[in-house]
Amino acid sequence: MDNNFDVIVIGAGPGGYVAAIRSAQLGLKTACVESRKTLGGTCLNVGCIPSKSLLNASEMYHKAQKEFKNLGIVFTDIKLNLSSMMANKNKSILTLTKGVEFLFKKNKISHLKGKGSILDKNTVIVINDSKKKITYKAKNIIIATGSVPTSLPNIKIDEKIIVSSTGALTFDKPPKELVVIGGGYIGLELSSVWKRLGSNVTVIEYLDHIIPGMDKDISSEFLKILNKQGINFKLDSKVTGVNVIKNKAVVDFTNNKTAKRERIECNKVLVAVGRKPDIGEDITKLSIKLNNQKKIQVNEKFETSVNNIYAIGDVIDKGPMLAHKAEDEGIAVAEIIAGQAGHVNYNVIPAVIYTSPEVATVGKTEKDLKKENIKYKVGKFPFLANSRAKVNNETEGFVKVIADEKTDKVLGVALIGSLAGTMIAELALAMEFGASAEDIARTCHAHPTHSEAVKEAAMAVDKRPIHF
Ligand SMILES: Cc1cc2nc3c(=O)[nH]c(=O)nc-3n(C[C@H](O)[C@H](O)[C@H](O)COP(=O)(O)OP(=O)(O)OC[C@H]3O[C@@H](n4cnc5c(N)ncnc54)[C@H](O)[C@@H]3O)c2cc1C
Repeated sequence: MDNNFDVIVIGAGPGGYVAAIRSAQLGLKTACVESRKTLGGTCLNVGCIPSKSLLNASEMYHKAQKEFKNLGIVFTDIKLNLSSMMANKNKSILTLTKGVEFLFKKNKISHLKGKGSILDKNTVIVINDSKKKITYKAKNIIIATGSVPTSLPNIKIDEKIIVSSTGALTFDKPPKELVVIGGGYIGLELSSVWKRLGSNVTVIEYLDHIIPGMDKDISSEFLKILNKQGINFKLDSKVTGVNVIKNKAVVDFTNNKTAKRERIECNKVLVAVGRKPDIGEDITKLSIKLNNQKKIQVNEKFETSVNNIYAIGDVIDKGPMLAHKAEDEGIAVAEIIAGQAGHVNYNVIPAVIYTSPEVATVGKTEKDLKKENIKYKVGKFPFLANSRAKVNNETEGFVKVIADEKTDKVLGVALIGSLAGTMIAELALAMEFGASAEDIARTCHAHPTHSEAVKEAAMAVDKRPIHF
């Protein structure tokens, strides 16, 4: 094989593999290095895909147990076969990672198997499984090495009793008692999975609310719903230690306000306190500039401080750590390298929590706007007044549209409710096109659908919802 490329991408997650495909589409000779056995990165192997498979399967199990009888569907003897549920999840991972392999072949991308490091701005070294070192030359290098789970000081993840999200996707039985440290989206999605499958789940969160960064009305509604589902919360609490004693863990924590100390004995502890960029020593040696969170600093063209070296995805200092953000950056960086005008609009990146109901947001929160001194108006509409949600017994939650006080331009949207993750796409599109709340209110929405609640919330911005 000729070892000279126009582009070498390091990392085949949603950022890296998409950057490789787009580069190849644009006629650039492209290679992608990946140290994992399968392509697709965190997202396909131990992130978005396996978690959504378990969320879907556990929701079906829960509904079959608790809700089907209300619809007149009566079963007896519903049983959980966790190994089949896991096998179904693994099949999805295999199909999707193989799909990326197929796309690499189709686009004639060289898949370099092994750990990549950057020697200089035009040289990548790949060390394969048999420790063989191969040198490759590239006109452009894209770092897309993603992120790995982080922990708290003095808590060592062993992936047996004290696990990261990766371990919590492969339990061989539902832990009787599960403690989740961290009330962010990964912690809450996995809490939902194991609660539905039979665990007693307690979430310990340092802040006095769940989902940092979200407006209070959304996070308190979400907390109320999760509480009703039986998940226990210890908010405003700092975990001071986790000790493993004979196949069990003892979690100590202290309330930040009252200083009251508490202890929970449990079978598993999931540490879900965030993720950190996966940066190799080579990056440090090359003196690529990092910010104070050790993320790679890039400019609007995804250029690092070293010529010819670009970076995208979880590893950079821009935007949230989300797969679709990484994908969009992958497309943009390839287009920029090919001389086109690639761009990512960081004001319109949707975020979804795939619990039941789902929570989805895009754009600014009220908190952001207050900080930026921007005057705004809010329209809200509850799913309780939406006919489709009502017939489906999915009346929890609401839609909230935030628009500029003067221009009526939509600045942000938050939804909590069934299908929120699907409906947020309409709002992201509206915002990309600079829509006003009035534009959404005047757009005909099919009846009966959950999305009529979006239209009504847009009408509520002007205080004229019809059904509430
Ligand atoms: C449990 C969980 C659930 C999630 N759910 C969602 C979700 O629903 N929606 C969403 O948008 N996001 C979700 N995420 C986040 C999402 O997975 C990440 O934002 C996304 O994968 C980042 O993509 P990336 O390409 O930057 O990096 P990654 O996906 O982390 O890929 C980086 C790849 O680079 C490889 N690599 C690293 N160093 C080297 C090296 N030196 N040489 C060769 N290869 C290397 C790694 O092996 C890895 O495969 C979830 C994450 C987790 C953990």
